[in-house]
Amino acid sequence: MEPIQLVDLRRQYERIREDVEPAIARVIATTAFIKGPDVESFERELAAYTGAPAVVGCANGTDALQICLMALGLEPGDEVITPDFTYFATAEVIALLRLTPVLVDVDPRTFTIDPREVERAISPKTRAILPVHLYGQCADMAPLLALAKRHGVAIVEDAAQAIGASYTFPDGTTKQAGTMGTLGATSFFPSKNLGCFGDGGAIFVNDDSLTHRVRMIANHGQSSKYVHDLVGINSRLDTLQAAVLRVKLRQLDAYATARNDLATAYDGAFSDLTDVLVPQRSATSSHVFHQYTLLCDAKRRDAIAAGLKARGVPTAVYYPAPIHAQKAFAQFGPGRDCPVSTELCTRALSLPMHTEMDAEQVEHITRSVREVAHATSL
Ligand SMILES: *Cc1c(COP(=O)(O)O)cnc(C)c1O
Repeated sequence: MEPIQLVDLRRQYERIREDVEPAIARVIATTAFIKGPDVESFERELAAYTGAPAVVGCANGTDALQICLMALGLEPGDEVITPDFTYFATAEVIALLRLTPVLVDVDPRTFTIDPREVERAISPKTRAILPVHLYGQCADMAPLLALAKRHGVAIVEDAAQAIGASYTFPDGTTKQAGTMGTLGATSFFPSKNLGCFGDGGAIFVNDDSLTHRVRMIANHGQSSKYVHDLVGINSRLDTLQAAVLRVKLRQLDAYATARNDLATAYDGAFSDLTDVLVPQRSATSSHVFHQYTLLCDAKRRDAIAAGLKARGVPTAVYYPAPIHAQKAFAQFGPGRDCPVSTELCTRALSLPMHTEMDAEQVEHITRSVREVAHATSL
């Protein structure tokens, strides 16, 4: 059996090698490394795929979030509501811009921001809500959009883990992750569902009046060459990365299917276990399974992880600490209680999840989880 990895990028590469190598060679031959034609083509193709009115490439997902918040013209001290259970970058950019992060708890079933907690946290200083489509499912956007409208605040979606996930509104219409709020951000970090060969990111601009501003901010605030209307940043998607992403975008549906097939196999193999709970599917979102995350008894999680490691099955904890407990966030004081987020950090355990798992590996992982979960309950 091939060794099992959390994410297998090599096998994925081998399958697209024939398309991706000529695409890379073409960029090198033209030396159009910055703002080459592949960047614009990729932006157009990703907009068509997601249904976003416009897509602007940038250097990484963290910059994408930062550019979104800069584009909203927020002032230091303005409050941005975001979940306490997420990757650090989501909350980090809020603090970096001297805005005030207001961390709220998440739904215990979907692990995404709890709209009732958001409602409770809204204050006269609230200017934006920053939901995260965690692990591959959309946050519950309908109530969040209603709240945002009622209070006149913007929504910036963190879609770094959920590109291609589809949300169903109460009237039956659907929209993709990143395309529902004022602005959306995503990441092309290699292990993301649409990963490039280095760093990359993009902004979904869902409000046409902001497209020019977003482009300017990502390019030193330039309105035309050497004319700077704003103070911006230097954040571009490299042409080489755009060329890789154009090839991989054509595979994204197949990748989502492979991830869902693996998740279904895991669900079936673990449904009768009481030591580990399988992830629940949101009633309002499709799942693109960036992560397949079990919930363990907190006291047993580390033993389960160790038992799996001994059997050649790597696992990971996303995330070991809630944002409010990070040292970097001590400056914001104790804040609100987030018991769900705090508990998830002690119970979550993610299994290997990628597009290249073979039947033998699936069999080995499921058998190992069943053995270890059983053994640790004795
Ligand atoms: C990966 C990720 C980011 C940051 O993306 P980078 O490209 O690594 O900067 C932000 N938010 C979430 C939820 C992520 O998973």
